Amino acid sequence: MRQVKHLNDNEWRDLHSSCQLVLRKWIEILNNKAAGKFPTKVTAFHAEMAVHGKYKQPCPDCGKPVQRIRYASNECNYCAQCQNQGKLLADRGLSRLLKKDWPKTLEELDQ
Ligand SMILES: [Zn+2]
Repeated sequence: MRQVKHLNDNEWRDLHSSCQLVLRKWIEILNNKAAGKFPTKVTAFHAEMAVHGKYKQPCPDCGKPVQRIRYASNECNYCAQCQNQGKLLADRGLSRLLKKDWPKTLEELDQ
């Protein structure tokens, strides 16, 4: 996880092309699911998604448990191992409560 203002030109290009790739993949998946009809069930959660909506479930790439960040009434899921070099991101609710006891890595979380 990095703020976009810290990305260099190559990283911007990689991010842009990755976004396009993922969006094209999901357009195809959702079009296939709809099978030419107007979808009757609209949801942001799909079994084929890697980590979205899969808090505590194993990451499909590394098997580590999917983490979450909660903000307001929303939640963002991520794999600390694959997407953040093994570091846990601060959760506004629990990390504020635990302060210095908030685990920084998956290993600290296990303990
Ligand atoms: Zn992973």
